[in-house]
Amino acid sequence: MINVAMVKSINIITDNDLCISCGACTHICPFSNIEMKYNSYREKWEASAKSTEPCLKCGGINKCLEVCPSYDMDYIKLAGSNKNNLLGKIKNVYNGFSMDNTNRLASSSGGFIRELCLSLMKAKVIDTVISIMHHKGLDYLPSPIKDVSLMPNSIYHNINYENAFKILKKSDRKYLVIGLPCQITSIEKLLHLKKFSFLKERVYAKVALMCGYSFDRINALAFAYYSKVDINEISYREKGRYRKTRITNKFESKVFDFLKPKSFSELINNRLLVDRFLVQNGCLYCVDHMGYCADIVAGDAWQRRYKDDYIGTNILISRTAKGEEAISKINNFHIEKGFKNEIIESQSILYALGSIGEGMRDIKFKGKYFYPHHKRTINSEDIKAFKFGIFDLLKIKVIKKLFRERRFALAKICFALIGSKSLIKYRIENYIRRVSLK
Ligand SMILES: Cc1cc2nc3c(=O)[nH]c(=O)nc-3n(C[C@H](O)[C@H](O)[C@H](O)COP(=O)(O)OP(=O)(O)OC[C@H]3O[C@@H](n4cnc5c(N)ncnc54)[C@H](O)[C@@H]3O)c2cc1C
Ligand code: SF4
Ligand code: SF4
Ligand code: SF4
Repeated sequence: MINVAMVKSINIITDNDLCISCGACTHICPFSNIEMKYNSYREKWEASAKSTEPCLKCGGINKCLEVCPSYDMDYIKLAGSNKNNLLGKIKNVYNGFSMDNTNRLASSSGGFIRELCLSLMKAKVIDTVISIMHHKGLDYLPSPIKDVSLMPNSIYHNINYENAFKILKKSDRKYLVIGLPCQITSIEKLLHLKKFSFLKERVYAKVALMCGYSFDRINALAFAYYSKVDINEISYREKGRYRKTRITNKFESKVFDFLKPKSFSELINNRLLVDRFLVQNGCLYCVDHMGYCADIVAGDAWQRRYKDDYIGTNILISRTAKGEEAISKINNFHIEKGFKNEIIESQSILYALGSIGEGMRDIKFKGKYFYPHHKRTINSEDIKAFKFGIFDLLKIKVIKKLFRERRFALAKICFALIGSKSLIKYRIENYIRRVSLK
């Protein structure tokens, strides 16, 4: 007799808080046994198997786990190479920005994505773009978009991406698909299945955003609580590359400048919103921040030579012939060849090389629970696993829990105590930078 408790399904991902809401598993379950549900304690979308019975019939194949980017992924296989210092396949590196200031300022970085979408649609290479679009409140839904002004810039909180593949299945058109590396991996995994291989030709190319992390929506709720504003909508990158967070509700709309906090308390709020350890648990294990499965990867050109650029510039990796072809069709975009070493220079090395994800393998609090064994750096000496300190672990374990229990005030006090040294250092550095810019 099979022990029901031992039946493996997508629930081991969700029970261990590793779901990053890509939705891939919902499209593969032969028994339509998976649904995306909103978890209002964790404040995020998650996959959930409705019943264990069909999973018993699944006979240990667990198709859902096969496509899950938070399960044991073979990233060496996905990357197609473990060369390039584990940055994946690279045809060319570019830097550039939109020559239309409206598009550039509406974007997070240089406006590449908007200009690429416009150029490919104008050249009739694609019919439409699959991008997220604002739905209601904090919800953004993958949607077919023709009007680029409906595309948001970077949304850093949890997004339910399930609809992206639904769109592909539904209508026989040519699409450019845009998403985070994990979302693009989930699409790629599904397209590789025999069942869906006919959909491959609907995808002209896939564009991934370089991605350090994204967070559960609770961070945004905490930020709104600290800022004493009711939150209906939030945006994170208003007018230029340096973060300005805007919170909007029925009655008001307020902007908070990441670089110019008005008080020490506001500085702590800003840091709490985007702390690299207060992120979705699945992101902590992520080793693919560089979009291994995409044709093109777009990020922020944070390298030294753009340090004085306050509007925004993209760094781009073209990984495939299709990526090169797409980039060759872009209009209205100033583009220059870049160098491979600029990729790491532009990013925190922790993300560029998936160092935090590697470090997660060593920490002990995983206990009896499941954690992903992503196969990537086996036999590689290129990468050093991030060594977690006690304060990092306190953030992951204690502050996140306080957030989820809505004990926002206590969370802020703990965060300030844990991070006081680095917060003061950050404030001094920030002050010096602002004075030197005057
Ligand atoms: C969660 C997150 C983390 C990121 N981390 C980094 C990083 O560490 N380093 C770095 O260099 N760049 C990072 N980026 C990418 C960067 O912010 C820009 O999005 C990227 O450089 C493209 O800029 P752009 O000006 O061409 O396009 P943008 O105007 O920024 O357009 C972005 C497009 O991407 C899509 N999109 C935005 N958010 C999401 C989302 N949550 N899920 C799915 N699709 C989305 C939408 O189609 C949107 O129109 C991150 C982005 C996100 C969303
Ligand atoms: S184990 Fe099989 S039946 Fe159960 S959720 Fe996964 S794919 Fe569906
Ligand atoms: S990460 Fe994606 S595939 Fe994995 S459980 Fe969540 S929705 Fe399903
Ligand atoms: S860090 Fe990795 S898992 Fe998290 S959102 Fe980015 S690509 Fe997805």
